[in-house]
Amino acid sequence: MCGIVGYVGWRGAQEVLVNGLRRLEYRGYDSAGVAVVDGKGGLEVHRAAGPLDNLVAVLPEDGAVGSVSGSSAALRATTGMGHTRWATHGPPTDRNAHPHRDATGKVAVVHNGIIENFAALRAELEAEGVELASDTDTEVAAHLVARAFSADPDGGLTAAVRATVARLEGAFTLVFTHADRPDEIVAARRSSPLVVGVGQGEMFVASDVAAFIDHTRDAVELGQDQVVTLTADGAVVTDFHGETARTRPFHVDWDIAAAEKGGHDFFMLKEIEEQPASLADTLRGHLVDGRVVLDEQRLSDQELRDIDKVFVVACGTAYHAGLLAKYAIEHWCRIPVEVEVASEFRYRDPVLDRSTLVVAISQSGETADTLEAVRHAREQKARVLAICNTNGAQIPRESDAVLYTHAGPEVGVAATKTFTAQVIACYLVGLALAQTFGTKYADEVAREYAELESSADAVARVLEAVVEPTRALARDLAPSKAVLFLGRHVGFPVALEGALKLKELAYMHAEGFAAGELKHGPIALIEQDLPVVVVMPSPKGRAILHQKLLSNIREIQARGARTIVVAEEGDETVRPFAEHLIEVPAVSTLLQPLVASIPLQVFAAEVARARGYDVDKPRNLAKSVTVE
Ligand code: GLU
Repeated sequence: MCGIVGYVGWRGAQEVLVNGLRRLEYRGYDSAGVAVVDGKGGLEVHRAAGPLDNLVAVLPEDGAVGSVSGSSAALRATTGMGHTRWATHGPPTDRNAHPHRDATGKVAVVHNGIIENFAALRAELEAEGVELASDTDTEVAAHLVARAFSADPDGGLTAAVRATVARLEGAFTLVFTHADRPDEIVAARRSSPLVVGVGQGEMFVASDVAAFIDHTRDAVELGQDQVVTLTADGAVVTDFHGETARTRPFHVDWDIAAAEKGGHDFFMLKEIEEQPASLADTLRGHLVDGRVVLDEQRLSDQELRDIDKVFVVACGTAYHAGLLAKYAIEHWCRIPVEVEVASEFRYRDPVLDRSTLVVAISQSGETADTLEAVRHAREQKARVLAICNTNGAQIPRESDAVLYTHAGPEVGVAATKTFTAQVIACYLVGLALAQTFGTKYADEVAREYAELESSADAVARVLEAVVEPTRALARDLAPSKAVLFLGRHVGFPVALEGALKLKELAYMHAEGFAAGELKHGPIALIEQDLPVVVVMPSPKGRAILHQKLLSNIREIQARGARTIVVAEEGDETVRPFAEHLIEVPAVSTLLQPLVASIPLQVFAAEVARARGYDVDKPRNLAKSVTVE
């Protein structure tokens, strides 16, 4: 999500900040802004929705931008911070762009992440007569810091920031400036990334090193729950309680392109690694007082209770996430769910009425096929719930309820972190419906939610264990003509997704099948040395499924296939039949697709790389498909 850059030093802050933001553009954003303080009590903020050039167009122009002279604070200032926003709370408009200020205009803040308890804090501030100027969760932090600073001016900005973050819940990296403290900026980090850049008589802070790599390659990575106070001469890092904290200094030897990709060759590889965070961010804040809440809901509980049928409509990878929604919603809610590719849905006259819920899944929220399916559903009076990754996009705007996946921008055209985030979002929708229908008690909903929360750790463990061996396997199999993928039950959509990734990236013939269908046709494709990837269910789950898949593996092995088996750690029964075994942690049935998809993503990316293709920009594909 979003990009942050902060600067204290001797150069013109505005130019450093704008250049830093340019370096962070790759992260994706919808609006941008800067705040600078000039040492004469002046705090100047400029913001604009849209591309960075919109911001540059509204920056002061008298004299060269960044010269340390001129009439405007912006042009004199050598302290400041900048932000590219990826909206989560409030549409991407000028007034919601960061930095945000307190009511006196003395404190400015930029933020990456989500302040979960912002609604309560906002209500508290409003009760005290504070008028909030934006729809964001972020703005409360500016007011709270201003209040804490006036209560204890001797503690300085750092103490005010510490007092404020102690009250915040969620994921946040926050950077503050105060007009009365022109020689420092203070940042706090929880969950979202933050790195300090150490220069000669100047210091930087940023979401990643790309923002300051032109000025210094000496950096310090901040840990969880740390506060850093930056002056031109150095950084003081403490924990949230003011105790001295340990940090990790490092030297950056990446070039700028690698820096943007977190040291990887491709964005996709970085995005694969971001999945534990995107899962946690998507779930965060959705269990409030024991109830699952969506981001937006314009339907009454009664309208939701009247739902007696669900259609999930989506395209490509999102369709595979939708297939998994079916398992969860039918299991938890006991109502029928149909899943359909959006481009087919509206042309076959589906039976829709007021008691039908259409769940539309689209990363961009602009996918033309899905948007048209949503419009068709609404014309037929069906209710529409959108799952999408882009705040304020067309599909959520035209829907009755919305759940955002907080995967942040995805640069790689092939979906990875947005897929797993969509799956977890589908499960959240399932829980929200189950609680509305009363098919699950509150304690059962809370238990399932906690189970979903464990997915982030499980995925982190898969990433640690499987990336390197899977890459080696992929290089070995890269010359293959075709690869088949087999799965049963929730492993079936995983097989479809594994095959789609390989088609998209490696331009290879790849097919996913329900393993039970094998003998009804696809088994004819099996020939000597054909790689077949099998997604095994847990042996501890429904034993019958595991047994059946073991038989399927034997059938293909007998016909000469090379078997690559993704199985639960400790599943010894499968070992004799796996030419290559990829072990993933034991998790509940519905979480298995999340852990099992990871090696298949890595596999596709590495086969593509070994074949010399651009992993981030596969041929003929667009990230957001806005034509039917
Ligand atoms: N939650 C904040 C907002 O909606 C920050 C989003 C970001 O990380 O850019 O403005």
